[in-house]
Amino acid sequence: MRECYGWLDGDVALVDAGDPADLSASVRAAFADHYGEPPASVGRAPGRVNLMGEHTDYNAGLVLPVALAHATYAAARPRGDELVRITSAQQGETWEGTLAELGPRTIEGWAGYAAGVIWAMREAGHRVPGVDLLVDSRVPVGAGLSSSAALECSVAVALADLLGLDLTDDLRRELVEACIRAETEVVGAPTGGMDQTVALFGEAGSALLIDFTSHETTSVSLDLRGHTLLVTDTRVSHALTDGGYGSRRADCESAAKSLGVPTLREATRAAVDELTDDRVRRRATHIVSEIQRVTDTVTAFEQREWDDVGRLFDASHRSMRDDFEISCPELDTAVAVAVQAGAVAARMTGGGFGGSSVAVVPDERVDAVMRAIDAAFALEGFRSPVHLRAVPSAGATVDG
Ligand code: ADP
Ligand code: MG
Repeated sequence: MRECYGWLDGDVALVDAGDPADLSASVRAAFADHYGEPPASVGRAPGRVNLMGEHTDYNAGLVLPVALAHATYAAARPRGDELVRITSAQQGETWEGTLAELGPRTIEGWAGYAAGVIWAMREAGHRVPGVDLLVDSRVPVGAGLSSSAALECSVAVALADLLGLDLTDDLRRELVEACIRAETEVVGAPTGGMDQTVALFGEAGSALLIDFTSHETTSVSLDLRGHTLLVTDTRVSHALTDGGYGSRRADCESAAKSLGVPTLREATRAAVDELTDDRVRRRATHIVSEIQRVTDTVTAFEQREWDDVGRLFDASHRSMRDDFEISCPELDTAVAVAVQAGAVAARMTGGGFGGSSVAVVPDERVDAVMRAIDAAFALEGFRSPVHLRAVPSAGATVDG
């Protein structure tokens, strides 16, 4: 499925976000073609790139993601019976089941992300009926850009619209919870909640500072002035269910327990330095320093201090590579080469073990940076990477 880049532009592989009106029309047409009737609702939810704060969400810390212009579109039509049918342009197959079948771990594979939302919304008391769904996406799948939450949230807002619900902040908060339950309980993939929160609460032109202790979200206006956020998908597949994520989480819990604090949010650097287990100490060092870097990154972006952004991204990347050990050669190459070719800042982003890097690049250097990364990957014998421009965009919407 990682090979589906039918919309690449030119010799540098650049994924275009597409025009929302065209994509919405195209998902409506595909729905009518597939199910024989037009959809009643279309929901749209973006992927995201995180600027700072990796693995800090489940440590009650801070994160700073940006919602992308790249989004997933979900078309929906209520049925008069208990049947659920889900199809995806990225999968070319239709999942069929009944409402009664939906539940924790009852659905294998990709359809669980969408069907899980139906289940979780019903669990929350919404009378979601049997439904036909069709999704199409411009978010690279499995690239650390949160195609999973884009899928969940696009379905959630389409279903909310079918039910005649207004997308108020309260409803958005409820949908965040339903989408988290879909991913953790139905699919069985651990997720800290950052992805669903920014997919529903992102604002155009801004990053979203999320505090996982207070559950407050604060919009941070991003005036990039002559700079582009360039994302590079290394096309090394990360799989959150592979164990790397779970073992990092366990190390963080073990560090908090040794320090006698409920979460690492409450740990100090001095206390962490005293931890005797080398691995656990390095994991906790990453979390505590990364939470501080989120605060510092907000300031650096607000003041457009690009040198500071560069130092913070560099420190974060080193921390993830050496202390949290979630980087890989492809990510290290993408980050180092981006900086050599003129990026003011670069780091890996997302859960790690593959996925994407993010760089802040002066507009006139974007082409050179993409080409330099492509050349370095070819030289190293890595798969050709794919790039995209991360344009800070709004969270999920209902179309028309
Ligand atoms: P990420 O969220 O970083 O892209 P995940 O591993 O969390 O990576 O989620 C990727 C999974 O989500 C895919 O393997 C697939 O099961 C599902 N998925 C995401 N987008 C789509 C889509 N458009 N159609 C079908 N399945 C999708
Ligand atoms: Mg995901």
